[in-house]
Amino acid sequence: MMRRFYNGHVRTRHTPTVVLLDLDDTLFDHEQSAREALRHVHDANAAFTAWPFDAFEATHAKVLEELHLDVLAGRRTVDQAREERFRRLLAEAGASAGEGVVQRTAVSYRQAYQAARRPVSGAVELLAAIKPRARIGIVSNNILEEQQGKIALCGFESYIDVLAVSEAVGAAKPDPAIFEYALRELSVPASEAVMIGDSWIADIAGALAAGIRPIWFNRSNRPAPAGTPGVSQIASLTPAAAVLDVIFDTNTPSDIEADVRCASA
Ligand SMILES: [Mg+2]
Repeated sequence: MMRRFYNGHVRTRHTPTVVLLDLDDTLFDHEQSAREALRHVHDANAAFTAWPFDAFEATHAKVLEELHLDVLAGRRTVDQAREERFRRLLAEAGASAGEGVVQRTAVSYRQAYQAARRPVSGAVELLAAIKPRARIGIVSNNILEEQQGKIALCGFESYIDVLAVSEAVGAAKPDPAIFEYALRELSVPASEAVMIGDSWIADIAGALAAGIRPIWFNRSNRPAPAGTPGVSQIASLTPAAAVLDVIFDTNTPSDIEADVRCASA
């Protein structure tokens, strides 16, 4: 247990016995896998090749986000949403594509995505480094089977003590209920856990709402929202030793250090 001065207050912090991690774009590199699949579909489809890839990718992201809401609400299955996504993109490209083309494009994207799946650099090494010191839980918003496939492919399986996937749990981040499910399965209080994730809303705000210390995985150097001081950040999963320092708090984050200096001045 450690005591820290924090914004003028003494905060009691337990050494973590549980490390919770997000999966997509924290341990599993969804962004790169999706980009590679999209590049394949773009380059292989005459309807898309005249469309500059960056603009094609941006429109794809917009359509994906719209349809993801339908999936979360149960209005479409993942497969239906994928077909609809490429139906809309083909229409946007001005192609008079029949259903056969729509379906083939969706299947081709899916196959390219499956083939491109990979862990974020350093993910396995980090899990291996955490394992002797804490139990590990995955807290992820997605379909259970999809996440199990990624975990198996990336070699994460043997490191994971609990898998909390929104479809199976019946609650999605940032709802504290999904974090509470993971903590309950591991029989630990929130004060003994940390949560590492890339999404400020889902992972950081979600963890804070559940009383769990968050660590923001900020790969692309985004600015942190105002009004939330003291959230630790990591920019990379490597080297694992540096991430362990942040998890187990062996180095004091600089903003807290500054507060300690003020307090003792
Ligand atoms: Mg994520």
